[in-house]
Amino acid sequence: MKIATEWGKKWRCSFNQDKSKVVVFGQRKRGETRWTLGGKEIEQVDSYKYLGLDLKGNLKWNMMRDRITKKTRRTMNTAWAMGIQSGHLSVVAADMVWKVLVRPIAEYGAEVWGEDRWDEMEKIQRDMGKRILGLEQSTCNEVILGEMGWWTMKARRDMLRLRYWRKLLKMNRKRIPRQVYDWEVGRTTQKTWCTYTKRLLVELGLGVKWENQKINENCSEWSKLIEERIQTREECRWRKTVTEKPKLRTYRLVKTKLEFEEYLKTDDVKGRRLLTRLRSGTNFLRIETGRREGLPSGERMCWFGCDVTEDEKHFLTECHLYEDLRKEIRTVEGGGGTRATDLGLMLGSGSSESLCTVLEYIKRAEARRRRIL
Ligand SMILES: [Zn+2]
Repeated sequence: MKIATEWGKKWRCSFNQDKSKVVVFGQRKRGETRWTLGGKEIEQVDSYKYLGLDLKGNLKWNMMRDRITKKTRRTMNTAWAMGIQSGHLSVVAADMVWKVLVRPIAEYGAEVWGEDRWDEMEKIQRDMGKRILGLEQSTCNEVILGEMGWWTMKARRDMLRLRYWRKLLKMNRKRIPRQVYDWEVGRTTQKTWCTYTKRLLVELGLGVKWENQKINENCSEWSKLIEERIQTREECRWRKTVTEKPKLRTYRLVKTKLEFEEYLKTDDVKGRRLLTRLRSGTNFLRIETGRREGLPSGERMCWFGCDVTEDEKHFLTECHLYEDLRKEIRTVEGGGGTRATDLGLMLGSGSSESLCTVLEYIKRAEARRRRIL
């Protein structure tokens, strides 16, 4: 403080004592120390907002997270009001709105603070996805991430951290961030920025990079490498849950990769939403509504006398009630005969032409079903 005051005198500048605060970092109790700057007393506070980050004396980030959560949600709602809701915005455009306008708010400074789980922010991302896709609240999380090809927010923060780590290693040793890094690398006994970074690299099979403290790849090569590794890790975790959840019975048959689904590019909003619901297992069919009523799985039969469970496969490829509609698909598909019974095709994995006819089928079949019931 004395040095700063001297420096101010030398360069003829004064400090705004009302705006200046003191934060004492560490776990120790607040002492009785009085702080003065330029002859005036400075208040000691628990946290201070610096460069957009709330720095807390106890080195916790909860205050900043609360603030970022609120801000992200607010921006998401604004973006929502801008047109995603009414379906005017395509899925691709809405995805862009999320990635360009909303998500950066949630990732501000995440290179530094991002290592912990943060469920609230994962939920915000999923809520956005549900809105974009027009899905029910009870839809499985894996469907939202799966259809959009999204990573968890945690995985995004891991990527940002490793990009920043390369920056640190390439930084001039005289610069302060680099000096702090060099000092921290040696402190292995405590939980620090470095200990998590090391653990992350090891987890991604890049432990040797940490050992060498050296990255030979250029910026884009390094980004590509860590993206590939994180994609593999995320896909693996995601697929594991997909195979475990009973509701995803149909989804796991047609979806194995964590990547954006091409069928979402269609401009048939109604058909697209129905198709996603069928894929997700959270839909209007007996297998799902019967579950909500508490019926055992063997008793959720098709209403139309088919004597089998009404699941997605039955609705799309078997039920006699819609046989005539399926014939039309066969005609469009070139009269192959069996193709309209191909579940993958009926769930949107075919060409864009066949997708059109499939969406038509789904809309008409669903409307007919609703009319009869
Ligand atoms: Zn039936």
